[in-house]
Amino acid sequence: MRFTKITASIGPNCEDKKTLTAMIKAGVNVCRLNFSHDTGETQGAKIDMIRSIAASLNKPVAIMVDIQGPKHRIGDFETENHYPLKIGQKFILDSDPTPGNEQRVYLPDGDVMRSLSVGDRVLLNDGKIELKVDAVFDDKIETTVERGDEIWSRRGFNLPDTEVDTEILTEKDKKDLEYALTKNPDYVALSFVQCAEDVANVRDFIMMRSSQPVKLIAKIERPNAVERITDIAMAADGIMIARGDLAVEVPFEQVPAISRRIIRECRKLNKPVIMATQMLSSMVHSEFPTRAEISDVANASYLRADSTMTSEETTIGDNPVNVIETMDKILSYSDKDTIENPYDWSRLDNLPENDWSRSVSSMAYLNKVAAIVVFARDTASTIQISCRRPDIPIVAVCDDEMVCNQLNLLRGVFPIYNKTLFGQRDAFASVRQFGIGFGKLVIVDEDEVSLQTID
Ligand code: PEP
Repeated sequence: MRFTKITASIGPNCEDKKTLTAMIKAGVNVCRLNFSHDTGETQGAKIDMIRSIAASLNKPVAIMVDIQGPKHRIGDFETENHYPLKIGQKFILDSDPTPGNEQRVYLPDGDVMRSLSVGDRVLLNDGKIELKVDAVFDDKIETTVERGDEIWSRRGFNLPDTEVDTEILTEKDKKDLEYALTKNPDYVALSFVQCAEDVANVRDFIMMRSSQPVKLIAKIERPNAVERITDIAMAADGIMIARGDLAVEVPFEQVPAISRRIIRECRKLNKPVIMATQMLSSMVHSEFPTRAEISDVANASYLRADSTMTSEETTIGDNPVNVIETMDKILSYSDKDTIENPYDWSRLDNLPENDWSRSVSSMAYLNKVAAIVVFARDTASTIQISCRRPDIPIVAVCDDEMVCNQLNLLRGVFPIYNKTLFGQRDAFASVRQFGIGFGKLVIVDEDEVSLQTID
């Protein structure tokens, strides 16, 4: 029973039935479909395939639709398609849609033009190019190159110093989300969230179009989102630490500290948290992870994150199944170690002594129970117990398939979709499915919490 879950990004090298089936068998709990790349029917077909594989394997698998969000891009260049930018030279971003050259390029996004101020940095190529804004006009931004590299057509850029006055959903995102909602995803992940209102606006958009309780994951990749993490986490249903863009937008040496802070905050606020990006990057081509990658994956378990995530190592990697098997192996070992080295109760999140989920967790721990069984009509109780990190398996028996899939993201939660078990409130039969044959159980059934022994 692995406690730390695996979210796998699905892309060209793992979207055939055979590979996806093998990946789910190897331990994928959540499939992430990135709408920055394929959209519409193409992603819809993948969602249908994942659902059908999960049903045939009788395994819950959550579907997470990741919306591109307001990713800013420069325009095209003339014949060359790319130009070298040299330190100290001037470079202009303007509102002229004609192809650019070594002196200027089109900036399609008017919101960015309006939001930039003198002194702000514009980062391209993952931060390898740094432009500093010298002057702002209605139709152009004059910059100096502080760090140089080749600049390519249509590349995305980051604005670490700028609060961009922009809608969280672009026209493309609205179309993608409208389509995605017809496929009933379990989670929608939002890119480039800047504040709690961004999350609230998307929730409104979804509620106008779907009656399903789709959960929202806010991706934290901007410095202003880090500053507002408490409000954003409260507005969202979960957080993704999107270290790719985050490490460009904040000084990279701060990313581990920020990640720890976010995990702590999420647990306190009862929100699941995913550690994402470059966890096993070298495995795009290598059969084995680097030592540093092994440590990075293991640390997510030691920090008691809910889930790790794969990126290009599964989407374009040579052997996505091997990536999942590797991640599963590292997490399974580290999880066991965290269970054997129990939680420091003195640091229990500053929750009040009489906090309900804390009592359930303490009761389970002090009685050395084999599992906590929750009869879960919705996700709320299970999320709260999981966020106390009792280091004891939480078996969640669900009578609703979406609740079951959504709970599959949570640390230490083993959801079962079974209306009969749920109806009979059969805790013993539910834990037997995970090979637990004897010991004590804490059983949570709505407001009632009881301690029972299997013999
Ligand atoms: C990231 O930036 O780390 C991330 C997960 O986002 P995306 O893959 O959408 O760029």
